[in-house]
Amino acid sequence: MSDPAADPTATGPGVHAPTERQADLSDPAAVGSVGQKAVPAPEGVVSGRVRAPVHWADLSPSERAEAVRSQGWPAFRARQLSAHYFGHWSAEPETWTDLGAAQRASARRFFPDLLTPVAELSADGGATVKSLCQLHDGVLVETVVMRYGLPSPPAPAEEPAGPSGPAAGGRPRPRAEPAPAVGARGPRATVCLSSQAGCGMNCPFCATGQRGLDRNLTTGEIVEQVRRAGQSLASGAWPGGPGRLTNIVVMGMGEPLANYRAVLTALRVITAPVPTGFGLSARGVTLSTVGLVPGMRRLAGEGLPLTLAVSLHAPDDALRDELVPINRRYPVDEVLDAALDYADATKRRVSIEYALIRGVNDQAERADELARRLRQRGDWGWFHVNLIPLNPTPGSRWTASRRADADRFRVRLEARGVPVTVRDTRGRQIDAACGQLAARHLLG
Ligand code: SAH
Repeated sequence: MSDPAADPTATGPGVHAPTERQADLSDPAAVGSVGQKAVPAPEGVVSGRVRAPVHWADLSPSERAEAVRSQGWPAFRARQLSAHYFGHWSAEPETWTDLGAAQRASARRFFPDLLTPVAELSADGGATVKSLCQLHDGVLVETVVMRYGLPSPPAPAEEPAGPSGPAAGGRPRPRAEPAPAVGARGPRATVCLSSQAGCGMNCPFCATGQRGLDRNLTTGEIVEQVRRAGQSLASGAWPGGPGRLTNIVVMGMGEPLANYRAVLTALRVITAPVPTGFGLSARGVTLSTVGLVPGMRRLAGEGLPLTLAVSLHAPDDALRDELVPINRRYPVDEVLDAALDYADATKRRVSIEYALIRGVNDQAERADELARRLRQRGDWGWFHVNLIPLNPTPGSRWTASRRADADRFRVRLEARGVPVTVRDTRGRQIDAACGQLAARHLLG
């Protein structure tokens, strides 16, 4: 990774605290004041980098009120702008007819175009759409929307297995909503967000990991991914007709806990009630981490009932050191202890992510070891394992496990009382695995 020490413990405010921006976007720990934040400046140069323009979504409610005051507008205008943006997914003030023409023109400054679409690819009969967007400084990020329960749902490449395992013991079984699974709760749509442009974690099987870290995304850039997804769904632009955004997974490009402040602020905006935020349920949000222990512990104290997913991929340090290099800093036992503590604190079941790689981590002994390490920490339903068929990345020596080996792995876990799901493989045709579309775009 370009910076394995990217500080996951940088302190940060919630959405209602004063907004701060990265002074140096390559350094998640270095933040500076936004300066003229109430009246967003077009762009400012900081430490040789051009800072992303400040967006309405970057501002706390009091900063939004101050922003409209600075225009000489009455306070209720802030609520009006927010109602358009958060309540109707709109970032086009030109269309907001409850404002006068001059006000519509002035309002544009609060809604700069942070994301410029570069490519859009769909798969699964249009139920999976992947967008590649360019940010103001040219870096690329991907966002994927997956729809479930459409009237004639496309057949996924592999059917997910239902949760299994023993009944809960003495403690209540925490609830979890692993978003990337087909459910029976009516039409759902999940957006998979990027938290960084690129990633510094350097996992060798991951396309984004190969590319390195460009920079952290700002809160506005993360929120805008959600807004665009919500708008596209609501507009009925995609096959399947109009839809509603129900779930968020922070599983796109980047390590969210290495960009803690911007990600958490974005999640608070996303889950705040309309018109302060989009009003999405925190219980419908899953955040996936490579296992940055300090960040996991801090997240447990946020009072947000998010589902935590931990990308384990190996139960032993020798192999995990290779597959997930940050393991040298936060080894398996520390990661699992933090995962257990997260489940304890939030009563949310933790999802243990395990990409099955042929001949690398799919042996029966590893299934046994994984079951042992999880169950030794309790069997009250604090975890489930999500097996992911590896999506091979171009030029990589890693490939997906053979079907028989994957089945054996799953059966062995189940036999040891481990609840298992198999993630569906949405979007394979469009390189929906982390970073692949951006990699292809960059390679021309
Ligand atoms: N950095 C975070 C979130 C982004 S990656 C994390 O590591 O969890 C989201 C998930 O996709 C992780 O579980 C990651 O290990 C997995 N992943 C990355 N590349 C993959 C590939 N080629 N095939 C299958 N899963 C992959």
